[in-house]
Amino acid sequence: MVKPKTEEEIELLRENAILVSKTLAEVGKCVAPGVTTLELNRVAETFIRDNGAIPSFLGFEGFPAALCISVNDVVVHGFPSDYVLKEGDIVSVDCGTLYKGYNGDSAYTFPVGEVDAETRKLLDVTKASLYKGIEAAVAGNRTGDIGYAVQSYVESFGFSVVRELEGHGLGREMHEDPGVPNYGRRGRGTHLVDGMVLCIEPMINAGGRGVYLARNGWAVHTSDHRKSAHYELTVVVRKGCAEQLSTYDFIEKDGKINF
Ligand code: MG
Ligand code: MG
Repeated sequence: MVKPKTEEEIELLRENAILVSKTLAEVGKCVAPGVTTLELNRVAETFIRDNGAIPSFLGFEGFPAALCISVNDVVVHGFPSDYVLKEGDIVSVDCGTLYKGYNGDSAYTFPVGEVDAETRKLLDVTKASLYKGIEAAVAGNRTGDIGYAVQSYVESFGFSVVRELEGHGLGREMHEDPGVPNYGRRGRGTHLVDGMVLCIEPMINAGGRGVYLARNGWAVHTSDHRKSAHYELTVVVRKGCAEQLSTYDFIEKDGKINF
């Protein structure tokens, strides 16, 4: 039984979600050929701390950085490093905050300079599948409806869904019940009720769905070494239409941060 959040809790989660959204936009402004992923991490950590919050990923189960930064064939949980981004790469940036006792958690995959048409399509389809999932995150549905919406959309383009990792509830803990798989069957899984806060996060591969864990025990790679994309937003389950807490508006609409 998953307890829905109170409206007071939702407001605290919203504050975190907005901070995470703005942090992703700050990072996005720095994504360019020639930049290292450690530099992106530094930008995020500084911005989060300047806003009075804590980067929640740092130290989580031993994770060594503020951001998970996953380039090209890395699906998720990559370490920031001295790798220098180059034209045509894609870089998934996953960001978490802890503020006033609650968590924020969202991700965006940025193209580095110009990417090829197939890669652009992978990014567009993955992001669109996230919104398909959000459309299904309404009271009365079940988690399987979200998974089905993501999977059926993605597979219609010939891309594949990573099954080893999934979305989750969010609150005082970064990962709460229910799990939110990106594949599934309609009418199956956990019942969604008004006030449940979910992170929906499709991880979509250009090629096959197989993945493996790197020797560092964190980075998840595609088995065929083709590219993978990842987008994540936080939503509140509501009757009729989910309410988005985090947003890509700071990245996509403004091109700059609004306060
Ligand atoms: Mg995340
Ligand atoms: Mg997450």
